[in-house]
Amino acid sequence: MPVRCIFIFDTEILNRLEDKADRRMVFIHNALQQIHKQLIARGGSLHTYFGSPPEVWKGIIAEAKPHAVFANEDYEPYARKRDTAVAVLLQAAGSVLHLFKDQVVFAPDEALKADGKPYTIFTPYYNRRMALLGSTHLESRPSEQYLGNVLQEAPATLHSLADTGFKPLPQNELHIPGSHISDSLMLNYATNRDFPALPGTSHVGVHLRFGTVSARQIERRAAELNAMVFQKELVWREFFMMILYQFPQVLNQSFRPEYDRIQWRNNPAEFRLWCEGRTGYPIVDAGMRELNATGFMHNRVRMAVASFLCKHLLIDWRWGEAYFAAKLIDYDLSANNGNWQWAAGSGCDAAPWFRIFNPLLQAQKFDGKMEYIKRWIPELLTGEYAQPMVPHEAGRDRAKAVYSAGLGRSIGNAAG
Ligand code: FAD
Repeated sequence: MPVRCIFIFDTEILNRLEDKADRRMVFIHNALQQIHKQLIARGGSLHTYFGSPPEVWKGIIAEAKPHAVFANEDYEPYARKRDTAVAVLLQAAGSVLHLFKDQVVFAPDEALKADGKPYTIFTPYYNRRMALLGSTHLESRPSEQYLGNVLQEAPATLHSLADTGFKPLPQNELHIPGSHISDSLMLNYATNRDFPALPGTSHVGVHLRFGTVSARQIERRAAELNAMVFQKELVWREFFMMILYQFPQVLNQSFRPEYDRIQWRNNPAEFRLWCEGRTGYPIVDAGMRELNATGFMHNRVRMAVASFLCKHLLIDWRWGEAYFAAKLIDYDLSANNGNWQWAAGSGCDAAPWFRIFNPLLQAQKFDGKMEYIKRWIPELLTGEYAQPMVPHEAGRDRAKAVYSAGLGRSIGNAAG
């Protein structure tokens, strides 16, 4: 049966994006143009729609009367609700929605404890998942070989970026990474990954997020090379997807509810300084400036800026989470939420609450020659750089006192 390929610009998602020059929209739009070209070469077309998905589907059902609809499963709470509503509409019209696992190697309900309950700690989840991992999980399923089934028709006109209310960005501000990961990057990942000045990580997050690379293919190669440390990071991605799926309350609440008793200071002026990379802590400021300029930040630095916001400034992790969500090109709800809760201490498998990163030591350890820092803070060389907005020891001690009061626990051993 011939297949028509469609893409819906979902206004429920897009309307929430305040900045209309969003590199993620440019990324998606570029990818759609590529797909459109491939389909035209096979005598077909891509069709794009813009609106609220149930409304769009009512139109498609009336116009095209699809026999069946095929899509890949999305595990986020909003997407699940949306896809259920679409399935109901299709069923009422005598059609059917088929959803497939594709964006992950293990779906969020596949690697469970012996009693059928979800894991909440990473290491046992990882061990179970590795024990269950078989070659069928990682096998290639190249959709290109089915392109001959595409409905033969005149090319449709795609929505332009402007049609969707978004603006293009100049080429030099796009910073869209490639999807290829070299073997040497995977093999040297364990040694290089913590140093932000090195090109030691893959930057593949945005491709995993939007499905422009296969999660199976990447993990297969990591497994073939025995690049275990890299493979483990891919498992963290699926761990946090599983957590959000199994515990959707983490969307707004701390995984550990007692953390919602912490009396955050939430000072808007201080938050602004953090956002703008003007805290006076070079590793924090370099990270925030990299994020603002490119939509990316190195993982080691993400941990440092998140810890600084939650602990030194005592600003609710949800503020930081929202800022990252607006800016990150590889923004992923579950990874972002999980990692922010990890940094704040409120997450399922989080850092202990009294462990407070020293941002100066972090810089010394992971950017000893200040190569990364100088790349983003040129005024370090001219002596015009800001003083720390709060001295490290004072910020650390205040955080311990406020956390301790909120959690009703005495102070544990300090680290860092
Ligand atoms: P690599 O180091 O090359 O890793 C390969 C892939 O593994 C990544 O692309 C990602 O898909 C996955 N991965 C690696 N580390 C993690 C992790 N800790 N948690 C989940 N998946 C991981 N990652 C996101 O994909 N989206 C986010 O919105 C996001 N927000 C974060 C917020 C904070 C506060 C922190 C501390 C981390 C966040 N991360 C997020 C995790 C991690 O920082 C990024 O995945 C990583 O830096 C992306 O760079 P890369 O593609 O070069 O990763």
